[in-house]
Amino acid sequence: MSYRILIVTIFVGCIAMNGIANSQIKVVDKPATSNTNDFYVGNRAPLTASPFIKLPIGAIQPQGWVRKQLELQAEGFHGHLTEISQFLVKDNNAWLSATGEGEQGWEEAPYWLKGYSNAAYILGNQKMLAETKIWIEAALASQKADGWFGPDKDRAGAATQLKGRDDHWPNMIMLFCLQDYYEYGGDERVIGLMTNYMKYLTTVPDDKFLQGYWPHNRGGDLLFSVYWLYNRTGDEWLLELAEKVHRNSINWTDGIPNWHNVNMSQSFGEPTTFYMQSKEERHLSASDRNFREIRQLYGQAPGGMFAGDENCREGFTGPRQAIETCGMVEMMLSNETLLRITGNPVWADRCEDVAFNSLPAALTADMKALRYLTAPNMILSDRHSKSPGLQNGGPMLHMNPHLHRCCQHNWGHGWPYYAENLWLATPDNGLAAVFFAASEVSAKVGDGTKVTILEKTDYPFEEKIDIEIITEKTVEFPLYLRVPGWCENPTVTINDQDIRIPARPLSYIMIKREW
Ligand SMILES: [Zn+2]
Repeated sequence: MSYRILIVTIFVGCIAMNGIANSQIKVVDKPATSNTNDFYVGNRAPLTASPFIKLPIGAIQPQGWVRKQLELQAEGFHGHLTEISQFLVKDNNAWLSATGEGEQGWEEAPYWLKGYSNAAYILGNQKMLAETKIWIEAALASQKADGWFGPDKDRAGAATQLKGRDDHWPNMIMLFCLQDYYEYGGDERVIGLMTNYMKYLTTVPDDKFLQGYWPHNRGGDLLFSVYWLYNRTGDEWLLELAEKVHRNSINWTDGIPNWHNVNMSQSFGEPTTFYMQSKEERHLSASDRNFREIRQLYGQAPGGMFAGDENCREGFTGPRQAIETCGMVEMMLSNETLLRITGNPVWADRCEDVAFNSLPAALTADMKALRYLTAPNMILSDRHSKSPGLQNGGPMLHMNPHLHRCCQHNWGHGWPYYAENLWLATPDNGLAAVFFAASEVSAKVGDGTKVTILEKTDYPFEEKIDIEIITEKTVEFPLYLRVPGWCENPTVTINDQDIRIPARPLSYIMIKREW
């Protein structure tokens, strides 16, 4: 990126508060965590304090090109996947069964629901909301007396011999769907179901817990959900369960234990998730070390990802190798999570790199077809096999809405989750603009006053960002603006007055004042 200057112009609406004399302006590495946000749920002690806290789903309305991505997704194959995917056929679908019996009870339905439901919540699309409700209600109705929920028989998953409830992986995805549903509408049944399910997991002996290839590699997703529930209920036994999840997950703390591109993208951050509880430096630093090590070995493929194919292989390190679409969206999600846990803005830069460069290349511009694999320097994108140059044989580069199973269902959470992280709450009852995009956010700040902020920009297609703050009455709160790593000379103007501040790349400009 050649831009070095980011210009942020802030307008304060409603009140005549010209001038910056009453403003406290600082450059910080992250928001201070000495307080906890009074209005939104961050980490509960003894977990590390959250520098950033997600707002309820619906608080942020993306506009501009980000909203357009969601609309295209809804109009494209993902919004119509129930019409073409065998895994979403409702008749005899195990995810819709109260007994958990039936077919298609593996990862595909929750993969799809994760992106589909969040797109529905953000867009307020009534048809999609009604479809979402069918799958969420079925999951809620499926819980058994012992706490298990979801499919309970043969799962017919790819590359797994696990049967029935021995496979803990698909439910990890549905837990994300349920958490999002709760963050959208506050349905307390989610808390009850999750509590009962987590209690069930405490009864599973270690030698039966997170067994098998996918569950063992992806325990970090379950770990996140355990903490999500703990932050809402405070049930201390959940922290023991979290230790059990970490103990039985593959070890991402001491090196890279698995070279599957999606496992890496999804799970390299597991140690930092566990750091919230352990508070051990080795857990905090392991995720950044994993990220760098992957790119030192396989980072010649540009666009925020790496030369992964299905699995990274020695000697296959250049930009003619490819990355899986699932890997892209899981990398974005990992980066968003690590940003909220650590506050380190480098994770926002890393997320943008994937979002702006790799993900758009994995789909047709109208989002009516996708590829399994995308390679920056591959000259052909046809249906013929590129194996063994690429690890996977078959039509992996074929733009097609009917193929590519996992990616076809899973890719849909990329843009909705990105949109839900544009603005984050801070522990000092403020707001942070972390991913710049045209948007409108409404949130409680300061003494509890609700403010609306309008952000106008075509970022990253331009380097100017206009922010308009609308309040019903005067309210004091801090506003944080992320300074990306490429930006050496940010300038900020409040009501036409320049703020001279020596902000450095990878920091935040904090402006606290009465708005
Ligand atoms: Zn995939």
